[in-house]
Amino acid sequence: MKKKRVLIKFSGEALAGEQGFGIDTHILKFIANEIKTISNAGVEIGIVIGGGNIIRGVSAAKDGIIKRTSGDHMGMLSTVINSIAMQEALESCGISVRVQSAIAMEAFCETYIMRRAQRHLEKNRVVIFAAGTGNPFFTTDTAAVLRAIEISADMIIKATKVDGVYDKDPAKFSDAKRYDTLSYETALQDNIKVMDDTAIALAKDNKLPIIVCNMFKEGNILKIMNDDFSNCSIVKN
Ligand code: UDP
Repeated sequence: MKKKRVLIKFSGEALAGEQGFGIDTHILKFIANEIKTISNAGVEIGIVIGGGNIIRGVSAAKDGIIKRTSGDHMGMLSTVINSIAMQEALESCGISVRVQSAIAMEAFCETYIMRRAQRHLEKNRVVIFAAGTGNPFFTTDTAAVLRAIEISADMIIKATKVDGVYDKDPAKFSDAKRYDTLSYETALQDNIKVMDDTAIALAKDNKLPIIVCNMFKEGNILKIMNDDFSNCSIVKN
């Protein structure tokens, strides 16, 4: 396998599993094992986890009691909670991990420093980037693309519950077709929400391929690392 560096983005919701809120430790363990497989194969791995299983700024602010900016701060803190949980799961699999937060929280984790993150990756430590971009009005999708570019990742893997991007909802339409590849322009113009528009535009400007795959199928991420893209969609130029 050619030496690879990847950034994997999980939504917070994925961690919640059937319970719909919080963290399902069985899912954490499953993800940790998937990460272990590619880490053992020599892949350098950065991770961004969302916070939607705990709180999102938009929802927190919907009745006007909590300001959007404060809601977003709460959302960013949720990502730190998830990152610490993922760190534990990975460490219990014997993987060396560092959490780096965009907002200083030195009692819990390191503060994000790009060169330090790169050094960790070179030493085969998994780096979990927490607290999004550190700014309100952004999402963890954008944070994931930003970090992927900063660490010069070969690709970003958007780990979801479906095996790629479809022209319509595969849960509702039996004739829905999966794209093998699609361009950033198509994703933006046709409003295909692979990621939010800011994240797609940033990936486009920096020619970062976005791979959308089902993370709940065992071995899927390893397949991608072996250049087998048959079970996913690729967004690129
Ligand atoms: N957030 C933020 N700035 C960032 C990243 C995230 O303010 O750079 C906040 C925002 O409120 C967001 C929440 O953190 O709703 C959780 O992130 P996200 O919604 O992206 O999580 P996911 O949907 O991936 O679980």
